[in-house]
Amino acid sequence: MKHVKTDYHVHPNYSIDASPATIKDYCYKAIDLELTEICFCTHVELDPKRKDKENFVMVKGEKRSVYDFNWLDNYFEEISRMQDELKTSGLKVKAGVEIGFCQGIEHEIEKVVNSYPFDYVLGAIHCLDHISISSKKESPHYFGSREAAQVRADYFAVLMEAVKTGLFDCIAHVDLYRRYGIGYLGPEVDTIHRGAIEPVFDEMKRRGVGLEINTSSRRRGLKEFHPTKEILSIAVEAGIQVFTVGSDAHSLDELGEGIDEALAVLDELNVCNHVFTRRQPVPCCKSKGECL
Ligand SMILES: [Zn+2]
Ligand SMILES: [Zn+2]
Repeated sequence: MKHVKTDYHVHPNYSIDASPATIKDYCYKAIDLELTEICFCTHVELDPKRKDKENFVMVKGEKRSVYDFNWLDNYFEEISRMQDELKTSGLKVKAGVEIGFCQGIEHEIEKVVNSYPFDYVLGAIHCLDHISISSKKESPHYFGSREAAQVRADYFAVLMEAVKTGLFDCIAHVDLYRRYGIGYLGPEVDTIHRGAIEPVFDEMKRRGVGLEINTSSRRRGLKEFHPTKEILSIAVEAGIQVFTVGSDAHSLDELGEGIDEALAVLDELNVCNHVFTRRQPVPCCKSKGECL
């Protein structure tokens, strides 16, 4: 059977925190790396309280408001051009988005996801109390003044709400709080999910929402992927069946990083990697050949 290798979390130059590498650059690099599928997931951050910080995208090197949906015309046009160009290359190119969730912006998110024919909508919790927990610069303002119990209560409440909106196909880096939380909470950061993540996974299972293995943690000095093997086992136990793998590449050299190992982790757990077309998951792994 053909080797299947996907990267379902890639930030081309539309993201304000990404390198200038274009959709085309990533596609050709993906072919070099023998990926079978690449999914672009540009950041969409819509929290009005963070308007001056990150409610932007880049289009041809110019900063545009994320609320002005014209950027999505360019984005889809560029992706569909590559789909045509690479039709016979063995690489499938998908249009995705990574949306930062916080309470109160459900309607804005709904407008984005319903206005364009996305293949994949990835939901992420990047902020708590409107502070970015994924930013080296901002995260001390959050973690510096909160106990583990507070982090746990805040994070899992927002995560549960995100899942319950029904707007997301898959949840990105579900234990992202480990990235900078480790410096403040110590080893406890690896256990605060216990008892809090199970009801979230039950809800995800009920709604058919998938879970991502995100390999970017390695670049930040963490030993395990997002999420840890312990959390992945809890997800499998809860009956979640849809999993994806993504490098969260913000530059060309990060594309495909750790993907082989992430796929091996899924194999070990006896669950399948998935691909998405128009928001429908299809299993894509050694035990099931449907996606080939
Ligand atoms: Zn993210
Ligand atoms: Zn990302």
